[in-house]
Amino acid sequence: MHIILLGAPGTGKGTQSKFIAKKYKIPQISTGDILREHIELKDAIGKKILNILKNGELVSDDIVCNLIYKKINQKNCTKGFLLDGFPRTITQAKYISNLGIKIHFVFEFIVPDELIFQRISGRRIHIQSGRTYHIFFNPPKEEGKDDITKEQLIIREDDKIESIKNRLKHYKKNNNELTKYYLEENKLKKLKFFQVDGTKKPDIIKKEIETLIENKN
Ligand code: AMP
Repeated sequence: MHIILLGAPGTGKGTQSKFIAKKYKIPQISTGDILREHIELKDAIGKKILNILKNGELVSDDIVCNLIYKKINQKNCTKGFLLDGFPRTITQAKYISNLGIKIHFVFEFIVPDELIFQRISGRRIHIQSGRTYHIFFNPPKEEGKDDITKEQLIIREDDKIESIKNRLKHYKKNNNELTKYYLEENKLKKLKFFQVDGTKKPDIIKKEIETLIENKN
C-alpha cells in the first residue's frame, strides 16, 4: 500500500504517519527527517541545506526527489510506504506519479493557521530519539526533559516564529496546485484523495483514516 500525507507543518501528519505505518506495517518516509539526518551528519547535502531548513524555505526538487528515489527503492519498501512531507511541490507530485508506482491514498490535513502556530511554537523534541512533546498538549513528565532518558529537549530551529511563517507561506504557495492535482487524479480514479479535519483529536482522526482505508480499499 502506498500512501501520501499532505498538510502544512503542525497539522498532525507526523503523528498520524506513525499510527498508519505501524497499523499497515509499512515504513514511514519523512523527507524532513531524512534532511535533518543529513544536517546531523554534516555531509555534502547536509551543508547545502542547513540554512534552507533553518529559514523554513523549501529544499530543491532535485535533491528531495533523489533522496526519495533512494529510500523507496530500499528493500523495506517492497510492500509499500507512507510518504510524510513529500510531495510538497507539483514537480515532486509528478515525479512520484511518473515512477509508475500506484498511489492508493492521499490524505490532506487541514488546520487553521492560528492553531498551527500554537502547535508548532509549543513543540519540543528529543533529538536523539525523535520523540516529540508539546508544552500544553503533551508535556513531558519533567519540564524540558525527555521522559525516558531525561536528556534535554530542544526547539527545532525551524519551529521558531519566523521560520514557521516562512514554512506556511511556502506551503500555501504550492498547496492549491497540489490539491487540484490530486482532486483530478481522484476524479480519474487513479487514487483516493481525502481531506481530513486536523483539528480533531489524534485518536478520532486515526479511526477516520482507518475507516477510509478499509472501506475504500
Ligand atoms: P518537515 O519536518 O516535514 O516540516 O520538514 C522540515 C523542512 O524540511 C521543511 O521546512 C523544508 O525546508 C524541508 N523539506 C521537507 N520535505 C521537503 C520537500 N518535500 N520538499 C522540499 N523541502 C522539504
